[in-house]
Amino acid sequence: MSRGTGVRATRNPVVVVAGEDGNDRRSLRILLEALCPQMRGRVVEISDSVRLRLATEANLADRVAVLARKARARAVRERADLACVFVHEDLDSVDGDGVAEIQARVCRALVTELGTAHYVLSISEMEAWLLLFPNSLETFVSSWNVPAKRQGKDTGSFGDPKKILTHEVSMGARRYRESDAPEIFEKIVNLGHIKTPSGSNRSWDLFCGDVECCCADHVRLAGKRTS
Ligand SMILES: [Zn+2]
Repeated sequence: MSRGTGVRATRNPVVVVAGEDGNDRRSLRILLEALCPQMRGRVVEISDSVRLRLATEANLADRVAVLARKARARAVRERADLACVFVHEDLDSVDGDGVAEIQARVCRALVTELGTAHYVLSISEMEAWLLLFPNSLETFVSSWNVPAKRQGKDTGSFGDPKKILTHEVSMGARRYRESDAPEIFEKIVNLGHIKTPSGSNRSWDLFCGDVECCCADHVRLAGKRTS
């Protein structure tokens, strides 16, 4: 009875993004599509509480399994192959000893379950990445000003980047709010600043390296598998 139109011959790859809240997921999607044009229109989100950083070994495997199930189901809904998964979490403390270990442990669990995956652990939270782009912040709201002492620094050493944004960068009536983050990342991309951060943050460098590797290998591989 089939008329031959129900099954698609090729299935485009999708990259799934998981993160603690909608602002983080949207921010990550904007960054992925900017840093890897092949991902444009191919990044989809899932909601998951993503509590991997502090999970015990047994909990970690269980939580990763749940996340993987949701990611696979999302790809099925898109009638697409699952090329890769980016999972975001905030470290909630400054950079230091033990961070690389957490990163490696969670990453290993994700890759074991999914084959291709990346664990994006922002140090200390995603707002620290915004502080790498003072010019974009000042263009986003003209009254905002990034103090000189916050520029050109390791933003992973700032204990409370959100507070810096709400109490040092933004003043008066138009204070920074969490829902600004995706729009500021969009501004950074549109202004062409994305590849030229001011200062440093180890988690930003790791993330950019992961996207480069994903773009070159995972997304391309998934595309090849289906053609
Ligand atoms: Zn990947």
